[in-house]
Amino acid sequence: RGDSAAFDREVKTVCPYCGVGCQVSVKVKGERILYIDGAEGPANENRLCVKGRFGFDYIHHPHRLTKPLIRREGAPKEIDVDPANPFTHFREATWEEALDTAARGLAALRDAHGGRAVAGFGSAKCTNEEAYLFQRLIREGFGHNNVDHCTRLCHASSVAALMENVGSGAVTATFNEIEHADVAIVIGANPAENHPVAATYFKQFAKRGGKLIVADPRGQVLARHATHMLQFRPGTDVAMLNGIMAAIVQEGLYDAQYIAAFTENWEAMRAHLEATDIDEMSAICGIPAETLRAVARDFARGQAGMIFWGMGISQHIHGTDNSRCLIALALMCGHVGRPGTGLHPLRGQNNVQGASDAGLIPMVFPDYQSVADAAARARFAEIWGVENLDPQPGLTVTEILDAVHKGEIKGMYILGENPAMSDPDLTHAREALAKLEHLVVQDIFLTETARYADVVLPATAFYEKTGTVTNTNRQVQMGRPAVPPPGEAREDWWITTQIARRLGLDWHYSHPREVFAEMKRGMASLDNITWERLERESAVTYPSLSPDDPGQPIVFGDGFPRAEGRARFAPAKFAPPAEEPDADFPMVLTTGRQLEHWHTGAITRHASVLDALEPEATASLNPATLARLGIAPGDPVRLTTRRGSVVARARADAAVPPEMVFMPFAYVEAAANILTNPALDPWGKIPEFKFAAVRVEPAAQA
Ligand code: SF4
Repeated sequence: RGDSAAFDREVKTVCPYCGVGCQVSVKVKGERILYIDGAEGPANENRLCVKGRFGFDYIHHPHRLTKPLIRREGAPKEIDVDPANPFTHFREATWEEALDTAARGLAALRDAHGGRAVAGFGSAKCTNEEAYLFQRLIREGFGHNNVDHCTRLCHASSVAALMENVGSGAVTATFNEIEHADVAIVIGANPAENHPVAATYFKQFAKRGGKLIVADPRGQVLARHATHMLQFRPGTDVAMLNGIMAAIVQEGLYDAQYIAAFTENWEAMRAHLEATDIDEMSAICGIPAETLRAVARDFARGQAGMIFWGMGISQHIHGTDNSRCLIALALMCGHVGRPGTGLHPLRGQNNVQGASDAGLIPMVFPDYQSVADAAARARFAEIWGVENLDPQPGLTVTEILDAVHKGEIKGMYILGENPAMSDPDLTHAREALAKLEHLVVQDIFLTETARYADVVLPATAFYEKTGTVTNTNRQVQMGRPAVPPPGEAREDWWITTQIARRLGLDWHYSHPREVFAEMKRGMASLDNITWERLERESAVTYPSLSPDDPGQPIVFGDGFPRAEGRARFAPAKFAPPAEEPDADFPMVLTTGRQLEHWHTGAITRHASVLDALEPEATASLNPATLARLGIAPGDPVRLTTRRGSVVARARADAAVPPEMVFMPFAYVEAAANILTNPALDPWGKIPEFKFAAVRVEPAAQA
């Protein structure tokens, strides 16, 4: 390590995990990655977290898919295969046979039942070009918009609120802008675990005297650096934020000049907040009224303030209302469009921003152009050389699986997603996957979802592919292959192109740069960003105003992309979660990620260092709760909700409030999403992963 003679080449690319988008220098010897260092990227400036630095040897794991697979005749569709030999229900096939079988099955359903019998899930783990091709394939090949991806489970409600009130779904400022702020709110996010490199900037901000306001029902490391730590009751975000905003209005702390120049609907917002009883909001959220007022003063009186949020805000049935409140809070203080100000939903996956920009969403084409807009349909029909495109918004992730249960959708093409682990109410989701007449899964491992597949297509991991990705900061970055793919695995863009051709589409891409060039024809966000520039510069932030502009870290200083250039206030009223604790289910379950494991664990549980650090499923409970229940740390504990039951190992964690239990969702042996509530936010259609009524009890020792 550190001996440059030990490796024979270095490749500069991007970390495959979170939306921070750290640039990495991959040290390679022969066909193996030896180690990884941070590189000088715009988001990370050489920094890396444990996942980026040590979580790479999944690339060389013996369970990587290296050949196409076809399900054996009569093999059951189930997850519980022999862990030592997960491939037992499949036989190897040639690419020719597998692609023919995959496409023939999808085409047969389309031809027998119409295009709507087939739907697709793409992936925020793929490149922009691959996401673009996947949504094009469903829209062009099947004639509808039933194509979605994991943004639905992550920030769909944030995007709904931002699109509605700001006119753009992306961040208004990079997280690095906190360098110029003097006050910042981090709410419903745990950056030290989930965006660790971003968290280092937040800690530096606090260290140099910035006022850091952290708000989360669960305690966290960042609280040590905070001026205020608001550990509010779960699910009461709207009440707490209304209390803070009411204090700003009632004490006359708002920025009247900014509001008059750049916003609309202020009168309704002000009336709503003047009528808001701060004591009542305090009683609902559990934060003293005086603390709400102190936070209001600190944020409103700051010269430059930023708001960061994560899935603690978005994954609720009132996720859109939560985000509306945050947008309103920033607007009324004039904290948008200047250095050190802005709205920043911290994006999850490494390319969830880019996959969304590329149109992997059922309501919109690339660049968020509505499918209901005739001009947008005409634009993409011309680019794709088709007669018509469907004007009807498609179904979302959970709606698609509901439609499978109803028999309306009979076949699916799933690229890099793992709904058998990531969806709420997994029993329902897995039954849907088992019910499909034809399922094609394209991935790097035989994921829990792939175990239900009829055809499995082996894809390349990020360190084996060429293509662009876009991070939480709107920075489009070039991903370069460091090592060759194992066996016969192929890049996703190539596989999707082969499927498209077998579905009768006239596709002839020979390199991702051709796909990128096509994307630019329909995506103004990519103006002045070319493949050659990205090869040369590695990263360009959009919007880029000229061929040599590195891009704009802050947007909307001179107005918003809405009618008359004005952002909008959207008042929101507190409403309770979809289900509340009762005598049978007296506690609150919340789920999330942990530092060492990424999402459903498909990658990180195959990364030896990360899996050694966190090898088994845990349920974190307050020590007082454990004592009350007679459970010792390390004992098995059973969690039961209205949807199912799992057993995990109890972990004592004083940061978890006494009425709550926290579970990561990366472990198939205790899949947290068996427990979660599929109730949806009406605007973002995002499930309420962050709140389920649960019973916790000792479980028998294994
Ligand atoms: Fe990778 Fe995110 Fe860690 Fe950076 S912060 S190294 S992008 S996981």
